[in-house]
Amino acid sequence: MLLDIVKYPDPRLKLVCKPVNEITDDLRRLADDMLETMYKAPGVGLAAPQVGRSIRMLVMDDATGDAPKNPRVLFNPVLELSGDDVVSEREGCLSVPMDYRADVVRKSDVRLTAMGIDGEPIDERLTGFSAIIAQHETDHLDGILFIDRISRLRRSLYDSRLRKWLKRRNQSA
Ligand code: ZN
Repeated sequence: MLLDIVKYPDPRLKLVCKPVNEITDDLRRLADDMLETMYKAPGVGLAAPQVGRSIRMLVMDDATGDAPKNPRVLFNPVLELSGDDVVSEREGCLSVPMDYRADVVRKSDVRLTAMGIDGEPIDERLTGFSAIIAQHETDHLDGILFIDRISRLRRSLYDSRLRKWLKRRNQSA
């Protein structure tokens, strides 16, 4: 089932999400729905608060080009950042309107610990694109969007463009 994606500036995107204690059937269904919604968008990651659930859960797929799909579901992910600063070019987000994109400084290397869909422990090292997606999605669980990590000037330009865009859209609706 396709889910509605919560859009900035919805205050639900600012919440710090609660840990998942038990992976219930409801959450397994939610994981399926989130993956379906992510692929349809299309996107490479989606966090639970983006579909209105304030819990520490995300889905992602770091397969690029013609590589086979690699859907992943992570509960209570924790990242240990290391390595160099890298620029994530033209990062975007399904919750940030107008397909806005900006360069964001991320870390090149992360150690990911989490729980998988069957409750199995996950402990692995991610680099490159996978590391960037994991950082972007885990930020969502702490109420942080990529536009919180860009310069103040870029952010205020975006916010004023967005206000105008929302106003026009409301008038024509
Ligand atoms: Zn996002």
